[in-house]
Amino acid sequence: MDTSKQFTIVVKIGSSSLVDSSTREPRIANMAHIVETVTKLRRQGHRIVIVSSGAIAFGMRVMKLEKKPSKLSAVQALASIGQGRLIGLFNDMFRQMDQTIAQILITRNDIVDYTQYKNAQNTLNELLEMGVIPVVNENDTLSVSEIKFGDNDTLSAITAGMIHADFLFLMTDVECLYTDNPRTNRDAKPILVVDKVDDLNVSTTDAPGAGVGTGGMTTKLIAAGLATNVGVTTIITLSSQPHYIADIVAHIQSQEVGVDVEQQRASLQRDIDSKIIPLHTRFLSLPQDSKIRSDKRFWILHGLKTKGSLIIDNGCYQALTRRDRAGLLPAGIVDVVGNFHENECVAIKVIIKNEEIEIGHCRVNYSANEIRAIKGHKSSQIESILGYADSEYVAHRDNLAFPPLTPSTDGSSTSLATALD
Ligand code: GLU
Repeated sequence: MDTSKQFTIVVKIGSSSLVDSSTREPRIANMAHIVETVTKLRRQGHRIVIVSSGAIAFGMRVMKLEKKPSKLSAVQALASIGQGRLIGLFNDMFRQMDQTIAQILITRNDIVDYTQYKNAQNTLNELLEMGVIPVVNENDTLSVSEIKFGDNDTLSAITAGMIHADFLFLMTDVECLYTDNPRTNRDAKPILVVDKVDDLNVSTTDAPGAGVGTGGMTTKLIAAGLATNVGVTTIITLSSQPHYIADIVAHIQSQEVGVDVEQQRASLQRDIDSKIIPLHTRFLSLPQDSKIRSDKRFWILHGLKTKGSLIIDNGCYQALTRRDRAGLLPAGIVDVVGNFHENECVAIKVIIKNEEIEIGHCRVNYSANEIRAIKGHKSSQIESILGYADSEYVAHRDNLAFPPLTPSTDGSSTSLATALD
């Protein structure tokens, strides 16, 4: 085994792993098990980040509440009570192991500016360099829906992308992803290796296991898609057995690099059947040449929340997505949906068979109303229409971002361009 390979690993732990669903008491044994496992990995030289839920659930326990209140300010208050308890408990446990941790609370608003995004990235990297384990959660006390990541599956994927992690472990109450809900369908089959999340054909009509978290399998698949696009291999495994993380990391260290998907699937099946490693699902990251490599592109696609959309014509789509792509000119815009200001993030859409399909995001140089006035016109006409022309582009090429096109099994690109021809 090549134990010299050291990885950056993000471990996402949901409220149901930390709090008993019926008594609301902390699951201290499970937390201790998590602490022991990640400290062991840290000592092996891996860089570890924990993304932990539980603030609201811990707050409910402190205040002896059976049900989560519906009033936003009450939930925010509970989060501020519970987050202190949660990090306090983690801190006590890690201190017994001489492992320093740090708390990072974040909302989407904290990263709307690219410099702030880079600051968050630098802080996380600095902590990892110091050998510290950052414990990240959404800052629920201050966040309202417009500036929320929404669920910690998404937050963990964005964190993993931000620090260019090798692995994201999404710990959950089933061992792996199944073709259907294994609790209701006995014929549901485990899925071991996923190389294209978008092509998955599974039923995810799931309720979150213990009712104390916000995510289910659907948010995990979204998170896996987001993380694998930026080069992070994503793993779903059982939260009640935290040592599985170390078992899976050791197994990955023992594997040859560069084997194809079918070989990986076969060897994983063999090793799971012979109980060398626990059952889990591995979402393979996109290869180096097709994954998102630019921090700015990742930030525009996943760090920012879109405020409205621009519908563009097919010629414009081709110009934006070719290798030496152009900026977005007003001439290619056919419609503007919603209201947004200059510099905000907007979805770019095309119409295929009467349906609006999102193809990317951009940060705009003009507001929605300004773009409504100049759409379909040449850039040279902007000044005469608006009375000023801040830019010839609605969005500069550096402020445009498109998700990677995944290669299909026959080697061609699954490009929307084909559908638009
Ligand atoms: N941030 C929330 C909390 O700490 C949980 C969000 C989630 O479970 O996805 O309670």
